Amino acid sequence: MALDEYRSKRDFSDTREPRPEVKSSAAGNLFVIHKHAARTLHYDLRLEMDGVLKSWAVPKGPSLDPDKKRLAVQVEDHPLDYADFEGAIPDGRYGAGTVMVWDRGRWFPESDGGAPEGEGGGRIAEGAADPAASCRAGKLRFRLEGEKLHGGWVLVRLRNRPGDRDGKNWLLIKERDGEAGGGAEGDITVRAPNSVKSGWTMEQIADERGGALGDARGTGDEDERRD
Ligand code: MN
Repeated sequence: MALDEYRSKRDFSDTREPRPEVKSSAAGNLFVIHKHAARTLHYDLRLEMDGVLKSWAVPKGPSLDPDKKRLAVQVEDHPLDYADFEGAIPDGRYGAGTVMVWDRGRWFPESDGGAPEGEGGGRIAEGAADPAASCRAGKLRFRLEGEKLHGGWVLVRLRNRPGDRDGKNWLLIKERDGEAGGGAEGDITVRAPNSVKSGWTMEQIADERGGALGDARGTGDEDERRD
């Protein structure tokens, strides 16, 4: 069942992470990139699809340079409510560490633009995108309209090699368009390191500075006997 793996890895009496509920947003096409300081720092790309957030852990984070192909390891689907989660996962728990909403917005599937049919000359068929089928086929083209990331991107699944997690390794690549960059302006993860939700740094989120875990706290059923 959807979100079973997410559920099995967590104790929801012991984490502020959202419960495993399958539902869609009003828009139906949210995306979020979490910056996650777990055992190692990585970026989790999450795309809303069929009532869950399809998720890939990108160790080096996204690059605007189309020549920099970034490993993206598919991980368990996350619930939609996770899109807004920012806070600290306590030590000893699965994914322990600080989670930041590094970017968010809408995503739009695009046809995979494979071999052009007929004499059209590379024309991309409109309305042909079926993201779930594209995921199964191992090539998902999409456009991001986020606060930091824009334009065309592609996720391409790698063929299995010995030692790979079974079918989990993909590459995240920026398409060559007006939003591509690289070289002189530097790495987007360095130029724009902070949260688009709170404006905070990882250190501020870890310290809960400003008294705001915001809506990551306040599920309404936590123990009230805090000092
Ligand atoms: Mn993660």
